[in-house]
Amino acid sequence: MQAYSLRLYDSLAEEVGQQVDSHVVGGFFLAQSKERLREFSFLAGKFRALGLEYELVTPREILAKHPLINTDGLVGGAWDPEEGYVDPYSVTMGLAAGARQYGARIERGQRVEAIEGVNGEWRLRVGDDVWSCQSLVNCVGFWANDVANMIGTRLPITNMEHHYLVTENIAQIEGLDYELPMIRDTDSGFYLHQEANGLLFGPWEQDCRAPWDFGMELFDHDLDRLEDGITSACRRSPKPASSASSTARSR
Ligand SMILES: Cc1cc2nc3c(=O)[nH]c(=O)nc-3n(C[C@H](O)[C@H](O)[C@H](O)COP(=O)(O)OP(=O)(O)OC[C@H]3O[C@@H](n4cnc5c(N)ncnc54)[C@H](O)[C@@H]3O)c2cc1C
Repeated sequence: MQAYSLRLYDSLAEEVGQQVDSHVVGGFFLAQSKERLREFSFLAGKFRALGLEYELVTPREILAKHPLINTDGLVGGAWDPEEGYVDPYSVTMGLAAGARQYGARIERGQRVEAIEGVNGEWRLRVGDDVWSCQSLVNCVGFWANDVANMIGTRLPITNMEHHYLVTENIAQIEGLDYELPMIRDTDSGFYLHQEANGLLFGPWEQDCRAPWDFGMELFDHDLDRLEDGITSACRRSPKPASSASSTARSR
């Protein structure tokens, strides 16, 4: 899917005239143990078989591309040159333009409230209307179980509240003439990537709450739950931590 998405996003400019703002900055996966490095080695073979690049690297090679990282305690890591991020607005608009080009009709602001299977077709109640179709794709994100429940089934997924923190601008990053690669510290459980001229830090938290009734708003933060993650991130990237205050957001 990763390889397919990259090629798809790249092709949207030519195919539907939508330039996607994509930042393929590369990414490091950090290993604090030989076992983790063995896992990366296994993945490298698997990715190569799929035609993707993914190579093992030394702490020194990590430092050469990411000078803000403290490599103490690292056995090595893996480098994925195609890691990165895209601007979600331009991707969504590009995919919508492509769908319309190939015959789709997009109805916005319409909520499916009930689904019924009748004589081999689906009937969807949308406000006062009933829409019929042969095939129905449940792609409503974290509301997917609400829609699955409409036909009496459940999906094996759950929702997790998750924090991320954005630092203020950091002088060392402002001085760089390239964008920093992404970092995933699997053993400590967080990711880190450049956000404007600061860093965005996201911990993979334990003991998450699982809210169901909300939309796109941000929650209040719960900094106590982040203590371990923040401590690990400050150890791994101490320079920005000592020079910037940060803002916590929860989603
Ligand atoms: C703040 C934030 C930052 C994120 N950052 C990253 C990131 O850096 N990298 C990354 O990979 N992912 C990130 N994610 C996750 C990523 O955004 C989601 O995984 C992705 O958007 C899911 O896409 P989707 O199309 O499956 O669902 P969604 O984007 O959630 O779309 C589902 C749609 O279904 C609609 N819907 C719901 N119920 C109904 C109904 N009954 N009838 C009709 N329509 C309905 C909703 O209104 C919504 O428009 C982030 C998410 C958030 C909130």
